[in-house]
Amino acid sequence: MNLFNLTGKVAIVTGGNGGIGLGMAEGMASLGATIVIAGRNREKAETALATLRGMGVKAEFVAADVTQKAECQALVDQTEALFGRVDILVNNAGTSVRKMPQDITEEEWHYVLNTNLTSAFLCSQIAYHAMKKVGGGKMINIGSMMSLFGAPYATPYASSKGGIVQMTRAMATAWAKDNIQVNAVLPGWIDTDLTKRARQQVDGLQDSVQKRTPEGRWGVPRDMSGVAAFLASSASDFVTGTAIPVDGGFSIAM
Ligand code: NDP
Repeated sequence: MNLFNLTGKVAIVTGGNGGIGLGMAEGMASLGATIVIAGRNREKAETALATLRGMGVKAEFVAADVTQKAECQALVDQTEALFGRVDILVNNAGTSVRKMPQDITEEEWHYVLNTNLTSAFLCSQIAYHAMKKVGGGKMINIGSMMSLFGAPYATPYASSKGGIVQMTRAMATAWAKDNIQVNAVLPGWIDTDLTKRARQQVDGLQDSVQKRTPEGRWGVPRDMSGVAAFLASSASDFVTGTAIPVDGGFSIAM
């Protein structure tokens, strides 16, 4: 029995062309999975593809804006056309607009909710049909510490990430009978393009995170590889509807 073998499995990672998405893709590639990374920036994707192919697996980029339902459908269709199946979906694409709630425009609210939450709903709904065809699958949704905590500058972001956890639970109950496990991962503070911007915009963030994190450091995308490997493989077949913090202890520290 090999609980951690993903040979023959096909994973879609939205926003897999960098940051946490690429870290998770690397975790699954290390177990032999074929990876389709979806995003808008093709140049960034070329570097990511080189990394994944260098690990000895098949990897392709499919250009998709996951806020658009038709593009989510095309992503799943193209993955099936390229590799014949979809076994794993990582809903990782995300963004933030950091402002006080009274200053957020309606447009900014919808932009964050559409990118972080509605996209995950649409991709999951579409990938469900593909997974049913192959007898089951794994969905992994990316939440945040803002799924648990609030921050003055994070109203739309925290709303979307709280929604990710509840959407995960609801879908897990719906699709357990189809042998589809749906789980969320709640990353702590990870050094990526997204948080580079946060550190420019939020005074003292670099130090306050480091101080509060028991492991005494910011995370790096590779720190997300192991949880992806676990949640994508048959090692987690009886794990569904949960939200796993991967945060160096940030969420349990007083
Ligand atoms: P990055 O900015 O590096 O990654 C975000 C990714 O999302 C990019 O690859 C981007 O690709 C993609 N993306 C954004 N909008 C769209 C869209 N409309 N359609 C398709 N792809 C899109 O940041 P992170 O790696 O940090 O973030 C990844 C996820 O992790 C996000 O959901 C974020 O909220 C979450 N997270 C991050 C934390 C951290 O500390 N870094 C902590 C907790 C959660 P492209 O530009 O090509 O479209």
